[in-house]
Amino acid sequence: MLHLEQHHPELGETTTRKESMFATGHQVGVIAQQLYGTTESVEIPFNPRNGFMIQETKVLLESNPRFPVFEATFMHENVLVRADVLVPLDDGWQLIEVKSSTSVKDYHVLDCAIQVWVIQQAGLSVRSVALAHVNNQFVYPGDGDYAGLLIEEDLTDRVGDLKQEVVDLLVAARAAVTGPMPDVNVGPQCTQPFECEFQSHCWPNDTEYPIAGLGGSKANLARHVALGCRDIRDVNIHSITAATQRRIHRITSDGQPEVLDEGRKILETLEYPRYFLDFETIGPAVPIWPGTRPYSSLPVQWSCHIDDGNGDSDRDNLRHEDFLDLSGEPPMRRLAERLIECLGEVGPVLMYTSYEKRVIRILIDLLPDLAIPLNNIIDRLFDLYPVVKDNYYHPRMLGSWSIKAVLPCIAPHMDYANLEGINEGVGAAEAFIEAIAAETGSIRKTELEEQLLRYCRFDTEAMVEIVRFFTKKPGHS
Ligand code: SF4
Repeated sequence: MLHLEQHHPELGETTTRKESMFATGHQVGVIAQQLYGTTESVEIPFNPRNGFMIQETKVLLESNPRFPVFEATFMHENVLVRADVLVPLDDGWQLIEVKSSTSVKDYHVLDCAIQVWVIQQAGLSVRSVALAHVNNQFVYPGDGDYAGLLIEEDLTDRVGDLKQEVVDLLVAARAAVTGPMPDVNVGPQCTQPFECEFQSHCWPNDTEYPIAGLGGSKANLARHVALGCRDIRDVNIHSITAATQRRIHRITSDGQPEVLDEGRKILETLEYPRYFLDFETIGPAVPIWPGTRPYSSLPVQWSCHIDDGNGDSDRDNLRHEDFLDLSGEPPMRRLAERLIECLGEVGPVLMYTSYEKRVIRILIDLLPDLAIPLNNIIDRLFDLYPVVKDNYYHPRMLGSWSIKAVLPCIAPHMDYANLEGINEGVGAAEAFIEAIAAETGSIRKTELEEQLLRYCRFDTEAMVEIVRFFTKKPGHS
């Protein structure tokens, strides 16, 4: 990855999810500066010319500041680091690395160890190291008071144990940067701990049904790739033990979708009126509204198609309702009240995966006075996902039963890829946050509102299409 980043960055693919992770890291960094800063604190500003940042850091530290310094920049043997927070101690400095995750991961410790190695080699005495990460039990009291959002964990001893590992890692990293393309097989490292942006380059991607679509563990897939398999059909069926992978392989090799009649039978038992429900949520690391926690999935929008079963054809039966409030005020209460009103008291509430159930439980936590009607909705939820998973597969789904993979196969006229602006959940969350931001102009806000409404509506239309697909009568389109 390092080699490709240095020599072929054009082969990488940035995803909305990755951009969102960077944005989250930035938001947490801003709060960290508020929490650790004093009136005197100084941030070394970013400059594309590293030498400026290093020189500015040097001048500042030579003045022996007695206040926290942010983004101090050091280089040793061509390894550049920017320290999130340096806090002066009596006999040196404390390094605090800030992460937006909710716990310490092993790779964080290695990250800190590299920073300490560079900073110490550059001549500064680092006496202790801590990682400040997000406390997911923090409840935001409001008024910009984020004291308690971050928890510190001391890593001084763990970092000390990694000295040799850092030296070895840097030797390997240097070889990857200066040498030819390293001979590395694809494997679990392509998705853990992060999704690598070069997967479409490294994983076989030039056949009709690329091998990654077989699914299952990345380690198993990598073994097939190492044996020369590039397409799902290249894999020897006898080497596959997991039932799901055997099924994908069998259907892909046959080249025909599998539709089991059991799906129709299950869906025909559903009574009317049928409600098709989908939420859009946001889960910012830095809570926006009082009483909410970091990363809690807060519903901000819903769409519901209602099929009362009384029309002449299945298309005529549908009504649609939705909710979206872009005022910037916490929308959860009005959202829940409107939802309760829309869903009435009887009839199955269809969802795709159990995410909607989790979201309603969050609403119950936030709004205990609405627990009875919200629990009534939970009792009526019906998950379409397992019905689809057990009874349908098309080779073009490439190992995924996500609604975005299923829909174009059963309803070719509907494809998320054709939606302008927002076409996936992370994008919808980002769009909502942009739409409620004070600095967003009215034209842009209207554009985002239209895209959000269209996207959420598309999700429930997709569910309607899925039920229609399974239960359509022969001869009906
Ligand atoms: S996709 Fe995998 S093999 Fe390729 S650069 Fe990324 S981690 Fe390395």
